[in-house]
Amino acid sequence: MTAIEIKDLQFKYSDNHVALRGVTLRIEEGENVGLIGPNGAGKSTLLMHLNGILPETHNKQSAISIFGLAVNESNLLTIRRNVGLLFQDPDNQLFCPTVYEDVAFGPVQFGKSKMEVEALVKEALTKVGLQGYENRSPHHLSGGEKQRVCLAGVLACEPKVLALDEPTRDLDPRGKRHLKTILSSIKSTKIIATHDLELVVELCNRTIILDEGKVVADGPTITLLSDEEFMLSHGLEKPHILKHIHPH
Ligand code: ADP
Repeated sequence: MTAIEIKDLQFKYSDNHVALRGVTLRIEEGENVGLIGPNGAGKSTLLMHLNGILPETHNKQSAISIFGLAVNESNLLTIRRNVGLLFQDPDNQLFCPTVYEDVAFGPVQFGKSKMEVEALVKEALTKVGLQGYENRSPHHLSGGEKQRVCLAGVLACEPKVLALDEPTRDLDPRGKRHLKTILSSIKSTKIIATHDLELVVELCNRTIILDEGKVVADGPTITLLSDEEFMLSHGLEKPHILKHIHPH
């Protein structure tokens, strides 16, 4: 089944800055897709469209559907249930006095019972390796721990699609390894916007390259990322781990 379908998505911010210039793509259920491109390419803007976070788009005819359901005002609750979005900056996502409340926030919003919420929070915290953190204040945790609390909050909603924006940005090497292990154990369809090309090589069979609001390549990760000339022409670099692989 198709998890994400985007047809000719155009978007400009309220200051008239054009961020997406006709993006078309389709992601099947269970795929792990890397979304790469230089700064300003439109990666975050694209991810924010997946769960209707940008209010400007609500009333337009939707160019996006998630598991066949159009992303628009009337479907917003279901869409938000289906798409878990992990933002770049954990501080934007954590706002409760305790880790428990933060992770429980989504399931509570979706009307789960107290017992269900407890079970979901416990499972999500275990998945990210933060058992026992329930009563800690999220604001007093390290960057990596905050990130994992955010991820637990997203996982507790059991999303079918996981959209991650720069998930390894603030992590040290151990944190990165840990996150890769967590992500590879999660079955949801994933789209990962990142500059961490090793993460893409390890987790994503497929990569979409965005530049100036357009898809400039979409295909097997190893093939695209090992094409040094093409990568350089879009402000990217061939990752070190592929240095012995030649595309042609
Ligand atoms: P990326 O995630 O690939 O770095 P973004 O989606 O953040 O790219 O940004 C795409 C373009 O939209 C950039 O040129 C950026 O400056 C612009 N942009 C992002 N957010 C806003 C905003 N709130 N208002 C106006 N322009 C924005």
